[in-house]
Amino acid sequence: MPETILERLSRPGVLVADGATGTNLQQMGLARGVAPEMWIMERPEAIRALHRSFLEAGSDYVLTCTFGGTRLRLRHAGLEDRVVEVNRRAVELARAETDGRAFVAGDIGPTGELLDPLGELSYEGAVEAFAEQAQGLAEGGVDMFSIETMSDLREVQAAIEGVRRVSNLPIFATMTFDMGGFTMMGVKPADAVNAMVDWGAAVVGANCGRALDEMETVIAAMHAARPDALLIAKPNAGLPEIADDDSIVYKVTPEEMADYARRYVRQGARVVGGCCGSTARHVAAIAKAVKG
Ligand SMILES: [Zn+2]
Repeated sequence: MPETILERLSRPGVLVADGATGTNLQQMGLARGVAPEMWIMERPEAIRALHRSFLEAGSDYVLTCTFGGTRLRLRHAGLEDRVVEVNRRAVELARAETDGRAFVAGDIGPTGELLDPLGELSYEGAVEAFAEQAQGLAEGGVDMFSIETMSDLREVQAAIEGVRRVSNLPIFATMTFDMGGFTMMGVKPADAVNAMVDWGAAVVGANCGRALDEMETVIAAMHAARPDALLIAKPNAGLPEIADDDSIVYKVTPEEMADYARRYVRQGARVVGGCCGSTARHVAAIAKAVKG
C-alpha cells in the first residue's frame, strides 16, 4: 500500500471493513461445526473468492480467515502443530486478492477458553498462544491486526501483549456487547474503550452482537467516554434464525445495515462493516452509504 492504515485514518473519511467470514463460507459449503481455518489448506480458492467479493463491494481492508487461529482452537481441527504455517498462508491468500490496493488485517479471535480463576488458562498461557498466532500473521505480511469478538478485557490485554511480543503494527480491538449493553463477561463500553486505548490499540470498538440499534448505543457510549478514540462498528446482520429447511438465516437487509452504518458514523465511528450474516451485498450497501 502507498500509505499505512494509520496514515489513511489520519485523513478525513470513513473506512469500510469487510463482512462475515464464517457464515459466508458456510454458504459456500463449509459444514457447520468445521473450523473455517480448514479451508486455508483444503479450499484456498473459496477463501480468495470471499475476499475478492468484499473488495469488489468496496471493503478498504479484509480480515484473514484466522478467527480461530490460536493453538487452543486449532487443536480442535488437528492443526495445533501448524499454527504459524496456517496463519501465514491465510495472509498470503488475502494478499493475493488485495494486491496492494486494500489493507489486510490479521484476524485474532478469542481462545475459546476462560482465563483463570474461572477457567484453566493462565494469562501467560493466553499471551503465548496469541504471540504464536501473531507470528504467523506477521510473517505473512499483514498491515495490521484485528483482535475481535472479545468478552473478557483480560483476554484483550493478553492478545495485545501477545501481538506486541512479535510486532509493532497497528492493532484494531473490538468486543462483543451481546448482553444488553454488556459483554458476556460484564464489561461496559466505556470501560472497554478506555482500557483498549490505554493498552495501545489504534482503533477500538464493537463487533458481532445482537442488534443494529444496540450497536448504536454502544458506539455512542464509547464516543462519550473517549471522544478522541478511533471507533469501529462491525455488527451482525441481526440474530441468526433457523429457517424451515434447517438452514441459518440472518434477516437484516443490506439497506437496513447501510442505514445504521450512517448512524454509527454520526455517533463517531470511523470504520464500519459487518459481522455474522453480512454478505458482500451488505458491504456494498454500507460502502455506498458512507462514501457517497
Ligand atoms: Zn459475528
